[in-house]
Amino acid sequence: MRSLPSAFAVLLVAGCATGSRIDTTYTSDAQDSRVEFLVIHFTSEGFPSSLKTLTTGTVSSHYLVRDDPPTVYRLVDENRRAWHAGASAWKGHAQLNASSIGIEIVNRGPQGPPGALEWDPYPDAQMEVVVALVRDIMRRHEIRPDRVVGHSDIAPQRKVDPGPAFPWKRLADAGLIVWPDAAEVARRLPAFEKSLPDVPWFQDRLAKHGFAIASNGALDEATVRVIAAFQMKYRPARYDGTPDAETAALLDVLVGP
Ligand SMILES: [Zn+2]
Repeated sequence: MRSLPSAFAVLLVAGCATGSRIDTTYTSDAQDSRVEFLVIHFTSEGFPSSLKTLTTGTVSSHYLVRDDPPTVYRLVDENRRAWHAGASAWKGHAQLNASSIGIEIVNRGPQGPPGALEWDPYPDAQMEVVVALVRDIMRRHEIRPDRVVGHSDIAPQRKVDPGPAFPWKRLADAGLIVWPDAAEVARRLPAFEKSLPDVPWFQDRLAKHGFAIASNGALDEATVRVIAAFQMKYRPARYDGTPDAETAALLDVLVGP
């Protein structure tokens, strides 16, 4: 740098100055938000350790929703990428950190010994804040309801959050996520009770719903995990990953025959 002629250095500075003057008189019609997905998590820790993990570690989220008092913290600007999704996929899109907003909810997740798990409930007051936040983000970024997902939807082999205690129905009642019509599920249930579809049927419908799932016809561990993730969201009373008639009816209504 020291050997640069001083006239050249002046030119460089002048060039930078010119580049910073951008005329914004005109804008294109063809544009939209880079944010296409909204991903919901639980922190599996209390507030102080959740905050520490998300602000000083190698993971982060755009928002952290505290339980008591219910408070929304913005930790990452929405225009920047947060590190919350990891290896992930939904509806053919992968690596969702780049195209999503992440909400971490303070919730301790599974408690107790394996086989007798109890899931930390989400208090009403906290959920009111979550619903309002989800609605606001969806509106501003025009996110479609079928792209508002849990971490367990986009990474079913690795993650179970926000878990079966998360009241997805509240988001459905607010019109924020897709939800199968209960009367239609009841109407189609008897046919599935009489004749349960085979594993390829389930894999096909789960893939159409959005999951990354291999169509190999085998009820392998990966398929069981995806079915369990679906059940946690739409039929949380039983989420053992068994392909049963009610799960088939729910999928049939959501995805179509
Ligand atoms: Zn998560």
